[in-house]
Amino acid sequence: MAYFLVCVDVSADERGVFLLLLNNLEAIIMSAILEIGGVKATELANQFKTPLYVYDQNQIEDTLTTFVENFKSEAFPTKIIYASKAFQAVQMVNLVADYGLGIDVVSGGELFTTLKSKMPREGIYFHGNNKSREELDLAFKSWVSHIICDNIMELNVIDELSHQYQQKMNIMLRLNVGIEAHTHEYIITSHIDSKFGFAFESEECSQCLALLTDHPYLTFEGVHCHIGSQIFDLTAWYAAIDKLVSALKTFEQPLVLNIGGGFGIKYTDDDQPIELAESLRLLIRYVETALLEQDVTITALMIEPGRSIVGGAGSTLYTVGYQKQTPEKLYYFVDGGMSDNLRPSLYQAKYACDLANKLDAPKTEKVTVAGKCCESGDILITECLLPPAEEGDLLVTYTTGAYGHSMSNQYNKNLIPAVVFVKDGVAREVIRRQTLEDLLRYEMLD
Ligand SMILES: *Cc1c(COP(=O)(O)O)cnc(C)c1O
Repeated sequence: MAYFLVCVDVSADERGVFLLLLNNLEAIIMSAILEIGGVKATELANQFKTPLYVYDQNQIEDTLTTFVENFKSEAFPTKIIYASKAFQAVQMVNLVADYGLGIDVVSGGELFTTLKSKMPREGIYFHGNNKSREELDLAFKSWVSHIICDNIMELNVIDELSHQYQQKMNIMLRLNVGIEAHTHEYIITSHIDSKFGFAFESEECSQCLALLTDHPYLTFEGVHCHIGSQIFDLTAWYAAIDKLVSALKTFEQPLVLNIGGGFGIKYTDDDQPIELAESLRLLIRYVETALLEQDVTITALMIEPGRSIVGGAGSTLYTVGYQKQTPEKLYYFVDGGMSDNLRPSLYQAKYACDLANKLDAPKTEKVTVAGKCCESGDILITECLLPPAEEGDLLVTYTTGAYGHSMSNQYNKNLIPAVVFVKDGVAREVIRRQTLEDLLRYEMLD
């Protein structure tokens, strides 16, 4: 902390300038710097450049512990599967494997990445509504043993491949329970028109079950549903559980009950999700009761959290470049945007932010934070309060750990930022920043 003694004699018309000066001094004096995992944001930016995805590894690990400690029951085994589409990197999969979680992959790419990690093969669950033959082939070749099947056409391909490889595969059926959850509300859809899954009562479901009956290689493992994301109201989940448990009651043998992911997290003060540990205990209790009431036994209860494991642990650091004052708005331009965080442009997602090198400076400016992409919609934050900024200041957006890096893209050929895990004062790169040469890797130059 630096202290300045200021002695000036000011005339009335110098007053404005003087106050401005004081303001700046205050900004300099009060320049608390954000730390992530024990490392100053300014050091991270110097070492790894911006934009930069930074994860507080201890926070990820604390969340993993919360899941493991609270999602358990005396009545049945439980399994937690990390939905890797939220954020996937080999080191992330390794971390998840260390805590005994399995993983949900939805493409050949996510599967391939997982195969490079230490995740045991039996921990891999393959999801997706349109897995190609090539992707399913990779699953068989690499001894994946769980596929969540989305439709009868897919099951026919799996059937073929199982004969070709003479290899066993556990099959879960994705059911459309006609419930869509979103934050505070949920809708019971009257007609079922989602691209995912099928109704248990449907012809398609009967065909799948018929194909699985006495199959030499395919084992019917259980039922799955995923009702949405950023769920704050557990009653939607309860309604889905009731539906799945009724479906399970029609089978003689005990099966797996997989209730998907979707735990909500807090992006801004508008979001008030139920505490995670509490949600987990409530879900367990609800399933225990539902099973008792309907007299159903299961072999395991599964959940597939993605966002809730990584969302809050991740932040993005940007460097502030130019500013623009329009009649209505003050823009701060940052060196990234919809290429590293698509969610605000895609569905008006909200984020909180700070100037990471001026945490204590008074937030006197009403600002729009805009990216550098050639789209008017490339706005990261529509309106927020920030201190006056200078070129070179660091801007942090919080809670960008889920669906940030995984939705990153090369629009305008912006380089995809590095991903850094910070733990106990040590930062390590888990994905390096793209280089200009990387951009040309797939091009035929002559
Ligand atoms: C996206 C998805 C998840 C994870 O959802 P989150 O909201 O990130 O927890 C889990 N299961 C399935 C099938 C999904 O599509």
